[in-house]
Amino acid sequence: MGEYLPTIGLEIHAELKTRTKMFCSSKNDPDEKQPNVNICPVCLAHPGTLPVINREAVKHVLRVGVALAGKLADYTEFDRKNYFYPDLPKGYQISQYEFPLVSGGLLNGIGITRVHLEEDTASSIHDEESASTIIDFNRSGVPLLELVTEPVITSAEEAGIFARELQLLLRYLGASEANMEKGEMRVEANVSVSRSDLKGVPRSDLRLGTKVEIKNLNSFRAMERAVAYEIKRQTETLERGGIVVQETRGWNEGKQVTFPQRTKEGSADYRYFPDPDLPSLHLSEVQDFSTEALSVSMPELPWERRRRYLALGIKKEDAATLTSEIALSSYFDDLVAEIPSSVTPQAAANYVTNDLVKIIRDTAGRDTLDIAEIPVSVRNLSTILRLVTEKSISSRIAKDLLLESAGNDKDPEQVAKEKGLLRVSEGGDLLQIVESIIAEHVSVVADYKKGKLAALEYLVGQGMRATRGAADPEALKKLFVEKIG
Ligand code: ADP
Ligand code: MG
Repeated sequence: MGEYLPTIGLEIHAELKTRTKMFCSSKNDPDEKQPNVNICPVCLAHPGTLPVINREAVKHVLRVGVALAGKLADYTEFDRKNYFYPDLPKGYQISQYEFPLVSGGLLNGIGITRVHLEEDTASSIHDEESASTIIDFNRSGVPLLELVTEPVITSAEEAGIFARELQLLLRYLGASEANMEKGEMRVEANVSVSRSDLKGVPRSDLRLGTKVEIKNLNSFRAMERAVAYEIKRQTETLERGGIVVQETRGWNEGKQVTFPQRTKEGSADYRYFPDPDLPSLHLSEVQDFSTEALSVSMPELPWERRRRYLALGIKKEDAATLTSEIALSSYFDDLVAEIPSSVTPQAAANYVTNDLVKIIRDTAGRDTLDIAEIPVSVRNLSTILRLVTEKSISSRIAKDLLLESAGNDKDPEQVAKEKGLLRVSEGGDLLQIVESIIAEHVSVVADYKKGKLAALEYLVGQGMRATRGAADPEALKKLFVEKIG
């Protein structure tokens, strides 16, 4: 018996963040709710109109290319991809075929085949009530990046990690919001399974099996599940002696299964040819588009930021959490600049990735946020971190203070003072508290004297209560034992 090895290749589309559409000056606004307002004769495909290339969109794709260390095209052109569908009024989509803007490159060690630029279609909305389909042209002609990977991904998990990393990169570059739920990023997964009968054959020499393309995956989880399901289905088909049919399948979220949609058309069916209405581009002639010019404006990339955090001594998981959200990592960077040298970056990371993230989730209730929406100021968290590091407050009090600082800019040290939360010193204050508890709990003290250890725990509990958790329980215990003696 041989082994069945899965192979996955991804095709990912992302709507680019530009002021206007790909080939006209209609507004590109993914949040527009009113249908058919951001439209014009070009994106409605009126006869006689002419497209004009959006520079900003070209630049976004080239920046992605630089980040992936791909090869930027010198010569590039746009092609017509011909097919009929109601959401495509021209009867063709302007895309790139032979001369993509970017070829090659790597992300997370996965080879990139190409990254090219095209235009989005209109959106079809199925209206249950009238049993009809209505079309919103706001999306028609929105610039779309398409990235294609080599068939080198080997598990659903790896596919998920790749897609998440690309989403993060697009966000860091400001190229796309890339929300899967909003359709700003769409992932199609090609899956095949091949049998290796020969031990020791390197993966790269494996003959790939027949692939199935899975569409309409609208979350990373759905993608991972659909890929895992498809690997299992194909493996079982082959084990039964069956054959895998090359086709496009959909993902049924309710039933958690893939289902056949159509057998795939070959590229010949699209009759690609260069769009005669658009000029071909010689990118080397455009100063702004040179690799050097693009590199200068590159921000710190997600993997560079993670590396920087690791170098600060931050744990791998925390570095990943901080980096996963631009606003969170900018906040963290500000915090690290603010904390005194007695506080380690890892201590700061603990509070940010656990307590602060929880507070943010509870208040914002969604996954992307703005730094302005983080409800505890950098200065206040820094103060709390200093107090807990110098042991003026316990870590429990620190968490309470942090919660209290959410949406409240009052100095936490002041708050702690006013509420008597600063750790009581070993001597004076604590001794008084211990003495009065002993006086008030005569029978408990008697129990303890008879050897009941639970009685001591009870007294310590009273002491913690009296100090609102600010006392050190060990110090309290010592004092009770001494005093009752
Ligand atoms: P098509 O011509 O059907 O569009 P491509 O060769 O352009 O196929 O590849 C499209 C996507 O499918 C790419 O992401 C590629 O990595 C992936 N792919 C190609 N062959 C396979 C295969 N046998 N198994 C899994 N993925 C594959
Ligand atoms: Mg293809």
